[in-house]
Amino acid sequence: MEHSIDFSNADILFTDVDDTLTTDGRLLPETYLALCRLAEAGISVIPVTGGCAGWCDQIIRTWPVRAVIGEGGAFYAERTAPQTVSWRYWEDELKHRRDQQTILEAVAALKLDFEPRLATDQPFRYVDVAVDYNQQQSLTPEQVAAIHNALLAQGFNVRQSSIHINIWLGDFDKSTMSLRVGRELLGLDTQALQQRAIFIGDAPNDESMFRNFPMSVGVANIRKHLPIMTHRPAAIVSQRSGLGFAEMAEAWLRQRAEPELK
Ligand SMILES: [Mg+2]
Repeated sequence: MEHSIDFSNADILFTDVDDTLTTDGRLLPETYLALCRLAEAGISVIPVTGGCAGWCDQIIRTWPVRAVIGEGGAFYAERTAPQTVSWRYWEDELKHRRDQQTILEAVAALKLDFEPRLATDQPFRYVDVAVDYNQQQSLTPEQVAAIHNALLAQGFNVRQSSIHINIWLGDFDKSTMSLRVGRELLGLDTQALQQRAIFIGDAPNDESMFRNFPMSVGVANIRKHLPIMTHRPAAIVSQRSGLGFAEMAEAWLRQRAEPELK
């Protein structure tokens, strides 16, 4: 690992999902095993994703995680009993639903010379609205810009992932919700959380986490984004995506077993 991290006080892991845990869209056995070993070692693992609520429901029900933050910080889910998942929203749930409806209507009312299509996982989203531009649809950069600018002009937050144009209302992001999870679920103020939490991610949409979590790690595929990033990880592992995650977990667990190794 380039620039080693001192994991000795760390017992919380916030991790991005797409291209950090997943490798070309798949969760590799090495990566899932690393997640399990971290959890067995008593580390609270909390995925932080832009992915939809439906995706988060599967994660919280089946993975060895303490909680999951989804739709870019709009909510988190935790298991409160073996078969019970509870959801906490950034703001009032009904307000988020009304906002989502407003955005859906604004997208439907766009006057463009082509018809934007929603992402096929839109029914599994609680807060966010996602327009497909590079998943099952293929829009030109000009078409993407036309949608982006029209919605931005109406006062919505708009951001492109590698496949979707995400549109939302509200002042949350991955890091503000992570700090809230630290307070509400772990009973830690920001400073205590920063001293005990590691973050690992891969892309510019993780910058708020790199800014707020000094013990941060990038998987190797982040290198191509570094020139345009203001807030960068403190360390970068040598492997990409899910194997890079497993490499970080290995270093962490080795330090726990042999504390003199730093
Ligand atoms: Mg990612």
